[in-house]
Amino acid sequence: MGSERFGSFGLATPPARRAIAADKAIALLKSGAAKPGSLLAYGNGSSYGDSCQNDAGAVVDMRPLDRIRAFNAETGVIEADAGVLLSDIIAHAAPYGFFPAVVPGTQFVTLGGAVANDVHGKNHHRRGTFGCHVESLILLRSDGRTYRCSTTDNAPLFRATIGGMGLTGLILSASIRLMRVPSLDVVEKVTRFRDLAEFFDLAEAADQANEYAVAWIDQLAGGHGRGRGLLFTGNHAERGSHAASRAGSRLSVPVQPPFNALNRPFLAVFNAAYRWKKSRSSAPRQAGYQGFFFPLDGVRDWNRLYGPRGFFQHQSVVPEAAARRTVPALLEAARQAGQGSFLTVLKRFGSVSSPALLSFPRPGYTLTLDFPNRGEKTLRLLDDLDRITVEAGGAVNPYKDARMAPETFAASFPEWQRLEALRDPAFLSGFWARTASKLDAARDTAEAAE
Ligand SMILES: Cc1cc2nc3c(=O)[nH]c(=O)nc-3n(C[C@H](O)[C@H](O)[C@H](O)COP(=O)(O)OP(=O)(O)OC[C@H]3O[C@@H](n4cnc5c(N)ncnc54)[C@H](O)[C@@H]3O)c2cc1C
Repeated sequence: MGSERFGSFGLATPPARRAIAADKAIALLKSGAAKPGSLLAYGNGSSYGDSCQNDAGAVVDMRPLDRIRAFNAETGVIEADAGVLLSDIIAHAAPYGFFPAVVPGTQFVTLGGAVANDVHGKNHHRRGTFGCHVESLILLRSDGRTYRCSTTDNAPLFRATIGGMGLTGLILSASIRLMRVPSLDVVEKVTRFRDLAEFFDLAEAADQANEYAVAWIDQLAGGHGRGRGLLFTGNHAERGSHAASRAGSRLSVPVQPPFNALNRPFLAVFNAAYRWKKSRSSAPRQAGYQGFFFPLDGVRDWNRLYGPRGFFQHQSVVPEAAARRTVPALLEAARQAGQGSFLTVLKRFGSVSSPALLSFPRPGYTLTLDFPNRGEKTLRLLDDLDRITVEAGGAVNPYKDARMAPETFAASFPEWQRLEALRDPAFLSGFWARTASKLDAARDTAEAAE
């Protein structure tokens, strides 16, 4: 099977060299013959770096497993194969008045990928993560056995698989509880803020009053505009559409330009225009769900505009008490390095806890920054951002990452060894090999020396 379809979204990580079909991988696992570290499930490659890659072995293409198996239109529980896309779940459930309780910023993710990364959305303060809404899942491991996992059956495996980044085996299918909504549309309000202090003054009350809240920062604005942005809040409209619109867009970037087309002057103008357009009126307006939840799905393959070297996303979360100091410090570090982030998103996480053993969201503020890959210079900046985050008691998101040091991962997820203990030996990712496995090896060497 060719490898070109098995990339990562940031494009800075090379695509998988080897991929195998799901049915072949399932047969191999059932026979008990899968070799150590030889496999990793691949959903739709919407992770940014090497957490969905396995250079040492092969990735397993889960997308052909795309059947919706059952839907209860009374309770909103849907059971589907792991390769079903969220866009398909939305289309299936919308006419019955249901919507996923948690959606990330793209609907082109698989059910298996959303579970394995325990993804979050604009309503984390109310609904927690995707994993909070998983009733059960079916997991195939290299011992050849299929495990039904829930909070009552095989609970340790259930907790390790949610947020387990594909390391506990192949999720074959899952049952999730959808949320009843009056319509798919969202009544959206856009509020301008002049600087970060003003955002922090608004954020908690915005969460309390709204199902959804997220802010966009114009990081390319200089001088007095520094830290300015827009706060988007929203709630499902009482009257509106009950049918999913055609997912995605007719617009696409057909070929990759040989250079980074998203250069700074272009983006500065774009950000200013976007800000102006969105904030012409602060009156609430009814928006279609695609534009509100998935604005970036509007142009297919927009990541190609970053050119052949791709880009890095850095997502951090810092505790509430440190946020007013740390978020400006992160933005300032980028500015000082002469690398303003092209797309900057800031959001408050709430305290709803996930059943997952390892999960990125935790109470506090999460900042997401996108940087074109300018080689060493960018890598140095990213290390700086890691350091600032960790010193503030925060964490860096592994499924957006392509380069963090093992120590950053350990500081972000001090419980990582509990996932390692339940990792299926046949499964490994590039991310795990360069972080957790290195920490493990260092520990073994230290123990041998004692
Ligand atoms: C434009 C954009 C916006 C985004 N916004 C958000 C956001 O708001 N919030 C957020 O949390 N994330 C966000 N993301 C990241 C994305 O939601 C996650 O990375 C998601 O998990 C990707 O799902 P995928 O199906 O593409 O899986 P992949 O990226 O292919 O894989 C993700 C992980 O899941 C594992 N996996 C996949 N399928 C299975 C399976 N069947 N069994 C076991 N393991 C499996 C893989 O091994 C890998 O570790 C965004 C990404 C993009 C491109």
